[in-house]
Amino acid sequence: ASPIRARLLRLADDDHVLLLSMHHIVSDGWSMRVFFHELGALYNAFHEDRPSPLRELQVQYADYAHWQREWLSGEVLDQQLTYWKDQLAAAPALLELPADRPRPAVQTDRGGIRTFTLPAELVERLTELGRQEKATLFMTLLAAFKTLLYRYSGQPDIVVGTPVANRNRSEVEGVIGFFLNTLALRTRLQRDESYRELLRDVREVCLSGYTHQDVPFEKLVEELKPARSLSHSPIFQVNFQLHYASAGKKSLAGLTVEPVHLRSDTAKFDLSLLLVQLQEEIRGTLCYNADLFDAATIDRMAVHFQRLLESIVANPDECISQLLLLGERETAQLLHEWNDTAAEYQAQCMYEQFAEQAKRTPDAVAVVLGDDVVSYAELNERANQLAHYLRAKGVGPEGLVAICVDRSVEMVVGLFGILKTGAAFVPLDASYPRERLHYMLADAHVKVLLTEERLAGEFAESGVELVCLDTAAAELARQSVTDPLVHVADANLAYMIYTSGSTGRPKGVAIQHRSVAALCSWAREVFSKDELAGVLASTSICFDLSIFELFVPLTCGGKVVLAENLLQLPDLPRRSEVTLVNTVPSAMAELVRMKGLPEFETVVLCGEVFSHKLACDIFEHTTAKRVFNLYGPSEDTVYSTVSLVDRDSDQPPTIGWPIHNSAVYILDEQQRPVPTGVYGEICIAGDGLARGYLNRPDVTAEKFVPNAFSQKAGARLYRTGDVGRRLANGELEFAGRTDHQVKVRGYRIELGEIEAVLSRYQGINDVVVTVREDQQLDKYLVAYIVSAGKPPSSTELRAHLKASLPHHMIPSAFVVLNELPRTPNGKVDRRSLPAPDGVEQKPEAVYVSPRTIVEEALAGIWSNILRVERVGVADNFFELGGHSILAIRLLAQIEEAFQIKLPLRSLFEEPTIEGMERLMHADVSQRERIQQTAELLLKLASMSDSELESTLTEKLAAGTMAVS
Ligand code: AMP
Ligand code: MG
Repeated sequence: ASPIRARLLRLADDDHVLLLSMHHIVSDGWSMRVFFHELGALYNAFHEDRPSPLRELQVQYADYAHWQREWLSGEVLDQQLTYWKDQLAAAPALLELPADRPRPAVQTDRGGIRTFTLPAELVERLTELGRQEKATLFMTLLAAFKTLLYRYSGQPDIVVGTPVANRNRSEVEGVIGFFLNTLALRTRLQRDESYRELLRDVREVCLSGYTHQDVPFEKLVEELKPARSLSHSPIFQVNFQLHYASAGKKSLAGLTVEPVHLRSDTAKFDLSLLLVQLQEEIRGTLCYNADLFDAATIDRMAVHFQRLLESIVANPDECISQLLLLGERETAQLLHEWNDTAAEYQAQCMYEQFAEQAKRTPDAVAVVLGDDVVSYAELNERANQLAHYLRAKGVGPEGLVAICVDRSVEMVVGLFGILKTGAAFVPLDASYPRERLHYMLADAHVKVLLTEERLAGEFAESGVELVCLDTAAAELARQSVTDPLVHVADANLAYMIYTSGSTGRPKGVAIQHRSVAALCSWAREVFSKDELAGVLASTSICFDLSIFELFVPLTCGGKVVLAENLLQLPDLPRRSEVTLVNTVPSAMAELVRMKGLPEFETVVLCGEVFSHKLACDIFEHTTAKRVFNLYGPSEDTVYSTVSLVDRDSDQPPTIGWPIHNSAVYILDEQQRPVPTGVYGEICIAGDGLARGYLNRPDVTAEKFVPNAFSQKAGARLYRTGDVGRRLANGELEFAGRTDHQVKVRGYRIELGEIEAVLSRYQGINDVVVTVREDQQLDKYLVAYIVSAGKPPSSTELRAHLKASLPHHMIPSAFVVLNELPRTPNGKVDRRSLPAPDGVEQKPEAVYVSPRTIVEEALAGIWSNILRVERVGVADNFFELGGHSILAIRLLAQIEEAFQIKLPLRSLFEEPTIEGMERLMHADVSQRERIQQTAELLLKLASMSDSELESTLTEKLAAGTMAVS
């Protein structure tokens, strides 16, 4: 069809619309100006019966094209290409702006726009600022836009595309045609540089870009061979333009002419910022991909951009990471409105609340384990007896008493017994290596340890006084059953739980009574009495989920159903009494697969990412009506945020909202709030915050920092190291970590701790530990080691690790490397670490010759198109130099030869010959025909010209082949 089409619509005798559409291949923005100029000249002349006043063009587009081919070759081309290759070397493939929806696997073009106006005064000040730096307004605005992109994405290396008219020779000024080119302008931004410094960089990049603007962008893509993805455009995904509004009205004699504005709803890029300079103001249009962004997100972006510009002109020497984006309104919302969680509670210690409950419901069942049942009154009395016994040993407030016992009713007696002396408990797990247990006792300066005869041997040499609950039973029974009189303040410690430490040693998180009281009070409001009537307690007391499982029900008359682990649930004698299940998602994922589950109302998950699939499985396979996603680190007393999972949602559960008396801030590296929708570090404030890490003032000071957003004196913030953001409605989304802390089956692990222990092994020079995921999405640890001499065996390494680390921190696989892969700046490149043998298979990049006739025929076509001598059936089309144009060509040839139409995207999805053969064979009825065609193709390819001619003549005569 014609690349130019025109229609004149007559609306009335004196009212017409001229619709004109041109393919971009024959025109560009500049061409339109030429076109209207000429249209005017011709119309006016013909209107007066004059001949065309236009002069013949000196050159036609074809002349230009010819000239360009000649000129842009050899040295000129090399020189320009070298510039761009240098300029774009190792540029990031994708600028990941925080989107509202996950990027579709195939890029879409559904678009939306948002317009705004930059006022004259601002424009004038920007112009003046540019002038100081000899920069154009384009450069000034581009530098600001890049700052915005950097602040949104956190990515310092930013490539933005911009069109250039590319008409720098007077002969072509009057030609209509596609001259336009696109420049990919890359800047590496630095957190500490000022806007002014950035502007200088941007200016340089623009100027040198303009001097090398002749290489067509398509040619560049062909040369650079960026890793191709269907999900985004290559090299850049964000576009920026500044135009000057075309001057005035078009004049056609006797007519009033004005443009009809067409609203375009296609998005060519993820995001484009189009700025048009009017008389004094600038009109801005943000065009966005509506499958990535919501309109409201772009509305905010427009506001942030204007705010940023104001902040730039106010202080161009401010560093780019400090310039303001947020207005007061949004700041207030982020900091205060969405953290409006204050609620009254009694800051009473949990043992006091329990004792009061024991008075109200003395005969109610408090704890059960199998046949072992204890009532509130009995539990209270036995705990009192233990407390009196311990008090006699000098245990009191701010003391730390360790507890290492089997899971039993005694264990709960032990916890309350310790608390009732005013001391805090330190839970230990008997399965931990002795070295670790001894380290913890020494680190916490523990004087007394509650244990049992069977386990006492472990601690014989620890220098700690042991109280064996079983052998001391008779003596305990002689103690008073009355509540001991101790004064405990809500700021005294309640417990201390050890968690993995990145520098090689676990660290103790010290939690005060008031924090537990706040948690319990919140929980009793969110969960009904019925829900708390039977709480399954299956978490080890070494993890803080157990605090919720034990103390929430026991402070409100509920029952604790103890179990060794979650998967015992179907077999528990008291399973039908369980109303609420509290655990980590990976354990829940196992439970939902089990048969014979009892009925329960409520599921509370915490500690790891809660997937959409798991939410569906829970609703489908269990009787749960209310399912919660809770989020929170041990440093903030079990839970910090909560969301009730929506049964009908097709999205993964969010982490919701801060719980009562807690606040969540999403902050950047300078500890300042990031805009709504933008990722930052999750920082928590409120009554749940730990006192700190015991005896670790350095780490405490680093992680618990002053809270600048609170009016309260001494208020603190805990920096979780988690990444998250506020969604537009204020809900919180969790999005990973900033460091190398991981969760494997619910266990919090600092990879650095495992690395530190491994590197203590003799002869190990270098080590890195990572988490991998297998097909079943199970996570496992892999250790990579570089050894000085003969590498140790996995058995030796495992034995070494087992001496100091708990089982969940022992890697599943060990890989010996000659050296660790490193990024250009010397960091270990975790993504390039190979998969361990036997656990996972990595496709090998070796040549695999064609195995079937069809593969062989395809290989012939591929090597022809790619101009590569030998193509293996597993070779990747794009790695061999293929790009989208060659792809179209390839598919066209395949269609011609085999009469099979493969969609373009198939090549992106299956970029190998074997993949292509698989696709061609998808339709079984065609197999035989394809086979025959391949045979024929191969035969033809092997023939000399004369043989070919006679064969073709013969075939044609026989009518067995159509030849195009
Ligand atoms: P822990 O101290 O063992 O409770 O571990 C706290 C860490 O677990 C957090 O900092 C998060 O990284 C992760 N985490 C806790 N809850 C969630 C959740 N609901 N979703 C995703 N990650 C979570
Ligand atoms: Mg937690």
